[in-house]
Amino acid sequence: MSTILRRQIIRKCSSMDIPLVGFAPADRWDNPPFEPWVPEAFRPASLFPGTRTVIVIGFPISLPIIDTAPSIWYHELYRVVNDMLDSCGYRLAMFLTEKGYPSVWVPRDGYGSIDVLKEKPVAFFSHRHAAFCAGLGNFGENNMLLTPQYGPRVRFASLFSTAELPGDPVLDDPLCIHCKRCVSICPVSAVPGGGYPEKLTDKHACAARSEKLKRRYLSPCGCCIKVCPVGKDRSQYNRDDMRMYNKNSPLSEPYRRIQDHVRSYGSR
Ligand code: SF4
Ligand code: SF4
Repeated sequence: MSTILRRQIIRKCSSMDIPLVGFAPADRWDNPPFEPWVPEAFRPASLFPGTRTVIVIGFPISLPIIDTAPSIWYHELYRVVNDMLDSCGYRLAMFLTEKGYPSVWVPRDGYGSIDVLKEKPVAFFSHRHAAFCAGLGNFGENNMLLTPQYGPRVRFASLFSTAELPGDPVLDDPLCIHCKRCVSICPVSAVPGGGYPEKLTDKHACAARSEKLKRRYLSPCGCCIKVCPVGKDRSQYNRDDMRMYNKNSPLSEPYRRIQDHVRSYGSR
């Protein structure tokens, strides 16, 4: 097991300004930490035989931008973050393969269009579960992976590598404080509330909303992500007073003005 290679990967990530990186031994998928768990066909060693380690990278979604969501601003940020994840994932996989450890990158989404997602709202691999196994966070009521740094405001991509690398410990202490803000803000009641995985988001309802927003250049929705109080990014941006989301609070006014302005331009 190579700690030197692990350090080299972390240095490479740092040179690409990747703020989150975690390592998960592939056999963690074979010891379900909860049920229902990832079916065998969706596990790393099934998709890329010989996988010993899954490396998960993450880039944050800037809180002030997602606070305008749904908006063209978040729409563009989402696209840029996705592009960065894919290009960094690809470069890391090539870096490891060149070193003699065949590795492949898995794109951050893995679906062709929202139409496809509406029919079958499941990707061939779950980065959220990979990030969980790599110790980057744990699940919240919004079914997203919450991280200490950015709450759910982070996107992930993964690499399957034949390199055997030391894993990170799984984050046991739950981050979700069950405030239910994600439940009450969802305009299509897709977040039922309750713990994960007992209560699953209605992915069909969420995809249907996303499709409508896409036609207006406003997808993805992002509402259940922006209102989550978890994450150090809230204090970084001085947005940790959650009354900013309460419609009747004077604190919400400046944010609403920004949101109304941004939504008035560049989208329908
Ligand atoms: S993204 Fe929007 S529609 Fe989907 S679950 Fe979250 S709040 Fe609901
Ligand atoms: S908004 Fe509240 S209930 Fe929802 S995931 Fe975040 S902490 Fe949990």
